[in-house]
Formats: sequence, C-alpha cells, structure tokens
Amino acid sequence: MNKKSNKFGVKSVVAGVLSAAIITAVPLYAYAAERRKGDVDNDGKITVKDAYAALRHSSRVSFISQDNFPYADMNDDGVITLADCIEIQRIVMGMNDEPTLVVPQQLTLQCGDRTDLDVKTVNNNNGNVTYSYIIDGAISNDGTGEPVLMLTNMGKIKAHHPGTSTVTVKTSTGLTAKCTVTVVNETTTKTVSVAGNNLRITKKLMTRNDCYNDEDDYNIQGIVVHSTATPGVSASQWYSMWNLSYKNGETDREVCVHAFLDDTGVYQYLPFEEVGWHVGGAANRSHIGFEICEPSGFYYSGNVISGYDVYAQQGYFDKIWTNATVFCAYLCREYNLSVDNIISHREANQLGLGTAHGDPDHWFKLHGKTMNDFRASVSALLRSSSGVSVSDEEYIEGLPNIYDDEQSVFESFGEVPQYDMFDVWGDNSRSLR
Ligand SMILES: [Zn+2]
Repeated sequence: MNKKSNKFGVKSVVAGVLSAAIITAVPLYAYAAERRKGDVDNDGKITVKDAYAALRHSSRVSFISQDNFPYADMNDDGVITLADCIEIQRIVMGMNDEPTLVVPQQLTLQCGDRTDLDVKTVNNNNGNVTYSYIIDGAISNDGTGEPVLMLTNMGKIKAHHPGTSTVTVKTSTGLTAKCTVTVVNETTTKTVSVAGNNLRITKKLMTRNDCYNDEDDYNIQGIVVHSTATPGVSASQWYSMWNLSYKNGETDREVCVHAFLDDTGVYQYLPFEEVGWHVGGAANRSHIGFEICEPSGFYYSGNVISGYDVYAQQGYFDKIWTNATVFCAYLCREYNLSVDNIISHREANQLGLGTAHGDPDHWFKLHGKTMNDFRASVSALLRSSSGVSVSDEEYIEGLPNIYDDEQSVFESFGEVPQYDMFDVWGDNSRSLR
C-alpha cells in the first residue's frame, strides 16, 4: 500500500439539520469582496461622500436608489437614518474595524464531502442576515456529465464529481464573496479505535453508481446490518462490481450500500449522509446500511446455507463481529444514534421497513448469536472508558487490494464463486430502492 501524507486538509462535515438552501447565519454583518457595505455610490471606496449621501437621504433631501440602498442601510433595518450615516463616517475616519464576510478563497474536497464553506464574519454588530450559495454549474471532467458541485436538501455543498467549480456566497443584502472549489476522487483511509480495537475505514465512493448520483441527503436515525449471502466476495471486491450505472446501460443491480465490512476492515462506498439503496423500503431514507461479507467455504442452495463448517469459520466470524460492533459504535457516536436503532435487514422487514430478507440473523445464529447480542456488544463498547477515537485521514493511491498486505480468509479459497445476494434472496425487481 502506498500511503501519502494528508495533502489536502479536507475536513469531514456532519450533515446539518437545515431544511433549505437559504441558511440563517446569526449574526452576520456581511461585506462583499466586490463591493463593501458603506460604498453607497459604488466607486470602490468608502468616503465622506458616501456618508453624505446617507445623511441627505435620512434628511429627505435626496434619495438613494434601490440598488444602492442596502449599501447605505448599515444596520439592515430597512430605513436609512442618521445612525447609518454615522456608521459610514466611523469607517471613513478609521474608527470602525470593517465588518467582513470570511469565505475561503480556495478549497479542495474529496468526492462525497459536504461543507458549509465555514462562512464567518468578523466585527459583527448587526442582527440576523441570511445568505445562500450560488453554484456555477461546472460539469465534471470525468465524462459522466455530472456537475462538480451540488447543493443538498440539507443546505450543504456536496463535492459531487471531480473538477473545479465556483461558489458565490450571497447575503440577503446583496453582498457576495466567492470560493473556488477543486473536487478530487481519491481513496482515503483512517483508523477508528474503540476499547482497544482498531478498525480501518477505507473510503472510495462509487461515483458512477446511480444511487450516488440520484439521491439526496437524509436525517440519519439508525443502522441496518446486512450480510452478503455471497460467499467469498470480500469488501474491496464489491467496488468494481457495483460502481456502475444502470441508467447509462451498464450492468448493475440498482443497489448501493454505504459500506462493506470484512475481517480486514470497512470499505465505505457512499457518503453516510446520503440515501442508500440497501433495504428495499422506508429504512433506506432513515438508516445507514452496511453489508458484512460472508466467507468462502460453503454455498447456498436456494435460501439455505449448505456445507458451513462453524468450527472452521469461527475465527473469521469473531473478527467480523468485532469489526462490525466497533463500526456501529463509531457510527452511533458520530451521528448521535441510539444502539436500539441498530437493526438487521430481517428486523427491518419485520418492522415493515424493508424487503423479506433474513440477513444477517440467518448467519449469526450458526454461531449462536442474535441481533440482541450484537446490540449488547455495541453498547458495551460505547460504555468503555476509552471512548471512540478516530485518526486523521490519509490519502492512498487506488483501491488497496487486501491481498497485497493482509492475510485474509478470502485468500485461501482461490476462485470467487459466482453467487449473488439478490439471486439468493430471490429479488426479481433488481432494485432495492
Ligand atoms: Zn440485506
């Protein structure tokens, strides 16, 4: 594996609870890079002439035009008074530090990142002002025809596909500032530690998958645990199988989960904040979904497992049990989820939230485990004194092949058998939307 240092300084952003693209910033006394508030005559400078124009307006001698009005209404109260005139004059005399709208001029993000651009203000002395993002609509250079940036339904900017795009931040008072965003699509990895257990999370988004391109964000309320019913296909191998667009005529299944997990760690393929197509029901729009990879060495006959050697598989099962419970502990902490809201696909079906699958309970029970045991293990991890810690993200080249540097249960079984979880479960619809 070829690890590189953290060259982009990307910050991960948790999905917000804002309901619209217009965001209320409190307080925001904002001045644009192009035109500053107080520049009433729009000559690029704030001078005594501007203060005088405000004075004449407030005295009803001559009136400031509608276009220039916001630049004289310093406190945004809808009228221009002597107070606004004084405010401008204080700037002229150097008595005020000028309020400033602070937006990064340049930013590099990974595909799937969400950001609010860290819009900040300096020297605020005003009430509420709203602002919105205007995205220039630049199209990606990856040949998909998808935009570089999108605005999510939660009011965040999503780094959608590779390329460069410009975001203009505009205040309700008509002021603007710009940020140039470069989006890249690289593989990242980080390590989560819970109660002495380390779990590697490798992230490479399936940017061609229709789910990634068609869906928006949701309020994360829980987690659905799945298992693949596809013996011997490891977590990293699903990337090439599912990073395909059905819409564009490639073979795929119109499915996508947020992550696959095996004995080597987690491979994240969708942003957790975005709707996944994993459970074929309402839980798609409320739950993170991940698949635990089932090991080689047995097969399905219809929906029934045959030739499964519990004793031989126990070592693998113990590893995925630890990895999956650590992963859920991390997600519970990261997204403020209750352990009670971790359910299996089977339980999602019983709750009327998903299709009639039996995973992963049908596999867990071979090892004497239930979903209640699973939730109890996650709960115990969350109660541990060491808590949940997460390392910095590192960038790595390509999608690491687990066979290069890890001993994996998948290695010893040679050819991957051509099972498929959806054939096993009898889904004819091909869609788990
Ligand atoms: Zn499932």
